[in-house]
Amino acid sequence: MTRTTSTPQIWFVCGSQHLYGPKTLAQVEADAQAIATALFEQKTLPLPVRFKPVVTTPDEVTALCSQANADPECAGLILWMHTFSPSKMWIRGLNLLSKPFLHLHTQFDRALPWDAIDMDYMNLNQSAHGDREAGFIHTRMRLGRKVVVGHWSDPEVIARIDSWQRAVRAWTEWQGARFCRFGDNMRAVAVTEGDKVGAEMAFGFSTNGYGISGLVARVDNASQADITALLADYEQAYDIAPELRRDGSRHDSLIYSARLELGLRSFLEEGGFRGFTTTFEDLHGLRQLPGMAPQRLMADGYGFAGEGDWKTSALVQALKVMALGLPGGTSFMEDYTYDLSEGQEAVLGAHMLEICPTIAAGRPRVELHPLGIGGKEDPVRLVFDAQPGPALNASLIDLGNRFRLLVNEVDAIPVPPMPKLPVARALWRCRPDFKTACQAWILAGGAHHTAYSQAVTTEMLEDFATIAGIEIAVIDADTKLRAFRRELRDDEVYFHFARGIRA
Ligand code: MN
Repeated sequence: MTRTTSTPQIWFVCGSQHLYGPKTLAQVEADAQAIATALFEQKTLPLPVRFKPVVTTPDEVTALCSQANADPECAGLILWMHTFSPSKMWIRGLNLLSKPFLHLHTQFDRALPWDAIDMDYMNLNQSAHGDREAGFIHTRMRLGRKVVVGHWSDPEVIARIDSWQRAVRAWTEWQGARFCRFGDNMRAVAVTEGDKVGAEMAFGFSTNGYGISGLVARVDNASQADITALLADYEQAYDIAPELRRDGSRHDSLIYSARLELGLRSFLEEGGFRGFTTTFEDLHGLRQLPGMAPQRLMADGYGFAGEGDWKTSALVQALKVMALGLPGGTSFMEDYTYDLSEGQEAVLGAHMLEICPTIAAGRPRVELHPLGIGGKEDPVRLVFDAQPGPALNASLIDLGNRFRLLVNEVDAIPVPPMPKLPVARALWRCRPDFKTACQAWILAGGAHHTAYSQAVTTEMLEDFATIAGIEIAVIDADTKLRAFRRELRDDEVYFHFARGIRA
């Protein structure tokens, strides 16, 4: 089961005016309601769309935007202008609006009734210019939004609304979300550092540090009944190495791993945390670096990243929310080692332990192996190969004055046997090619830690960045280095000015 707290709504808002008389307005209302109902009945859309009465005056627009801000059940708005809706009447409301919005540029009727069309029909169906008037004021006010064009029944239109709703849902869950950092950053590492105050201002989630002792107490006090039940779960879900089984010589290590999971889970649940990060440099009182426990907690929807990397932990959590209900998994990931064979260049992604089993190609194995760092007992971990297929890596970095989201689309390939490598791993080829992708990633300052997803798309992340008002740099099949570098340089200027001295 994946954790999510809520299914907030999307308000469908149609703009018009009183120029055309009550009969036309009644038709506008009926048509808008029909579209909202059709979107509500789209079972594939993750969030329910709710019809809101047509707005026709500045006071109505302002009241509606205020209500949207105040209603925790409203996650975002879809705006559509059936008729002309003079946009100066939207200024006050849009100045207040703090929820994301999508501008749906559609028309109620798909085909034009050539024989029947008259002036009344044209006056009723004039989103062609009403939505241009709306678009002008959105651009004039420098409002970030998604514009979706096409008939409202068009599957591509629905798919683009779906992507946006997924971004909206992840954004909504970030507002007020709490992330737990056990210990601090891995000593001397730069990219996992960052401005937690700036992140809370930009993204709405908070990260705070917790001493490991509170966790240790929970690990040590885990009940025998809970441990027994959890071990039974493990036997159901995984192939357990003989030495870790009930009759095995190292069964005690598996019991301790179960304690770690129980301790972490209760700490996170009671604290209302959506994700966490650990560090192998601060394990005082723990016998193992948590491995299988974060793997399983990630599979339940918690954000996680290693070495104090709270930004990647939060990003993993957001991507897991975006991916809800879609095939394919999402995990914390690290670019580890390359295969530089000419023309076959590939990236071996893994971590010391903590890769999420939702990306596994088969049934994970539970194994016990030494860990070269940390100075603790051998940690239990789930070992598996990731599923081949399209995926992406996303990295959230702190540039000092602002955040940049970086994305590389990749193609995971089958993982050859690596009998001496005792960790979960993925193997992928980068788009457009290895050299271009790695140059672009490094020029953009992308981290070695990422959120890796087989389900989340670049479009969802673009929508997410638009909602957050941050830069997104995309490395995909179309990336050309010269243009990419220019884009980074231009974005440096734009986003610096866009945030101003508030950053
Ligand atoms: Mn790492």
